Amino acid sequence: MVVKILTLFPQMFTGMLNESIIKRAIEDKKIDIDCIQIRDYASNKHKKVDDYPYGGGAGMVMTPQPLFDAHEHALSSLNNTKTEDKNKNDQIGECKKNSIRTIYMTPKGKVFNQDLATELSKESSLIFICGHYEGVDQRVIDTLVTDEISIGDYVLTGGEIPAMVVIDATARLIPGVVSNEESIVDESHSNNLLEYPQYTRPQEFRGMGVPGILLSGHHKNIEEWRKNKSLEITKNRRPDLV
Ligand code: SAM
Repeated sequence: MVVKILTLFPQMFTGMLNESIIKRAIEDKKIDIDCIQIRDYASNKHKKVDDYPYGGGAGMVMTPQPLFDAHEHALSSLNNTKTEDKNKNDQIGECKKNSIRTIYMTPKGKVFNQDLATELSKESSLIFICGHYEGVDQRVIDTLVTDEISIGDYVLTGGEIPAMVVIDATARLIPGVVSNEESIVDESHSNNLLEYPQYTRPQEFRGMGVPGILLSGHHKNIEEWRKNKSLEITKNRRPDLV
């Protein structure tokens, strides 16, 4: 999967891209993640990327020009279109036709969940737009964006952390990204259930033991116990899932 992230703060992604499973996935060429600095595409002298909202009101809005040009660059670098021969409107049309999903992270969007992560993990390329200030000019959303996604019912300062959340949850569902030891089977939110309790060594820690069934070696009974625990936890904590 190739991921292009349109952002004003590419350094925010440094930690994510250089640690743990995502770092390994990049090294193994399972995923390619590229941050595009929106400001580099501002055509005005001062590289300004925001302006006052029409109609008044607090805050600033991200202007369309740098976002359109940065998006155009993302599209052409994804190589799905031969951009030299096409004018800008053709490229946008091509983007929608080829279903290169362009995701705008916004608290107004559809709330992200494991099903959406699974759906996105099947795409060969994705473009993310990270907003700031009061968000982006509506014409960006109307023209370039295929999906508006929220990571929850609260407001953050920018779209970078939300994009990282979506990319991380999506990347680990790409085959081969998560190894057997870090298996994604039976995890919370697969099959609409929360995961059963997990234990590891030592068998006794500060006077606390491990449920005997897990030491029994009886796989069928262990499976049954885990299934029941999963159901019990889900019913208690998230009855809406059951
Ligand atoms: N004025 C906007 C509103 O009321 O919907 C909020 C703007 S917020 C301060 C700035 C940016 O952070 C947004 O454009 C969006 O990209 C990102 N953001 C904030 N909260 C988010 C959330 N819950 N999910 C996804 N993105 C979010």
